[in-house]
Amino acid sequence: MNVYDAERMEELLGADGMTRAESQDDADLVVLNTCHIREKAAEKVYSEIGRIRKKGEKSGRKAMVAVAGCVAQAEGEEIARRAPSVDVIVGPQAYHRLPAMTRTAAAGTRAVDTDLPTLAKFKALGTARRARPSSFLTIQEGCDKFCTYCVVPYTRGAEVSRPADILLEEARKLADGGAREIVLLGQNVNAYRDEHGVGFGDLIGRVAAIHGIERIRYTTSHPADMTDELIAAHGEIQALMPYLHLPVQSGSDRVLKAMNRSHTAESYSDTIAALRRVRPDIAISGDFIVGFPGETEAEFEETLKIVDATRYAQAYSFKYSPRPGTPAATMDTQIAELVKAERLERLQSALNAQQIRFNQNSVGLCVNVLIERPGKREGQVVGKSPWLQSVHFDAEGAAIGDIVAVEIESAGPNSLAGRRRMSDDRTGRGQVA
Ligand code: SAM
Ligand code: SF4
Repeated sequence: MNVYDAERMEELLGADGMTRAESQDDADLVVLNTCHIREKAAEKVYSEIGRIRKKGEKSGRKAMVAVAGCVAQAEGEEIARRAPSVDVIVGPQAYHRLPAMTRTAAAGTRAVDTDLPTLAKFKALGTARRARPSSFLTIQEGCDKFCTYCVVPYTRGAEVSRPADILLEEARKLADGGAREIVLLGQNVNAYRDEHGVGFGDLIGRVAAIHGIERIRYTTSHPADMTDELIAAHGEIQALMPYLHLPVQSGSDRVLKAMNRSHTAESYSDTIAALRRVRPDIAISGDFIVGFPGETEAEFEETLKIVDATRYAQAYSFKYSPRPGTPAATMDTQIAELVKAERLERLQSALNAQQIRFNQNSVGLCVNVLIERPGKREGQVVGKSPWLQSVHFDAEGAAIGDIVAVEIESAGPNSLAGRRRMSDDRTGRGQVA
């Protein structure tokens, strides 16, 4: 979502007469779009501000610095205190006001805005967008789930769904501009329901009907909002790609309850089984937290068990990071860093082995690839398989935005390589032959 937000900020500032600088050294304005989800991400902001300031002092060319995103929202006052050189502090729901704020700052007053007017922001942004072959579309923001470890409900605000008619207009414009794939975004994307009662499955169906849209993905979903209608959509909607990011966080029901997750290990596994019944080749990805306060060795091993049973294609895993203002941060059963690090290593080694196996199973298949960008070598391009694997191959006449058939010849941990099979070029999902 930060990538989407950054693109929209660039569009806004572009409309206000600015152009993207070749490098940070040439910039009059540097916008740091920040993440507050873990302490490490938040601390990066302060070191980056210090680096920019030092660079300015050395070159005598002082760029205006704006801190945007969730660190700005959560730590606005602290930023002003710790980094007085910052000119603009703008939260994730107020960045439509960024052009006006830069003018205030240019006149010599620091501009700060951490309001949460989500729908007003989208109204101000409009629906005209620069399309990419795979384009992001934020449909929902904020979260009402309040998992006990998570800052999102505080930094992004309450759950808000954008009206379906506006989203379809934005999606149509993206398709007209050359988008072949739309990635529907939200902190809790599958809780989407607009004010007229349009639900998530219905919205996916309507986006799929837009001429030019061949592929749809969505992220991030909550297991408790995987309705029967949505699961059925994975079997019915051709454009819906066979890949789902469905975070489980832990395999222990006691830990899940302490996290205020409203699913259990069993309900999660049942959802995965139901998805595999309607779409046998669906690739599953997930998020995990190790070392949540009070997590015992036996509870951690339940997480390893659910990994074993689920067979992930990809995953993100993190050491629990106490976040100020969240209930888990003050629990008195915090786990030692060393224990968290050791558990993370064991979990990641299991997840990496599954990812490598998943990729190796693609060797020999002929798959449809949406070409997204040039590769490193002359003539080479990089695109995505239906299962979100990066695929490198020689374009042999194909262009960015094309969907072509590629025979997979080799697999690494993070990507695949192959050769185009001209006779099989076609659009659509999945494996060609
Ligand atoms: N809404 C999504 C869900 O319900 O799973 C997650 C969105 S969150 C931005 C992305 C991931 O960050 C979470 O799934 C979780 O694994 C991780 N995360 C959130 N807070 C964390 C914390 N305090 N420490 C470590 N990881 C955290
Ligand atoms: Fe955070 Fe996701 Fe839980 Fe919401 S559902 S509080 S975004 S982890």
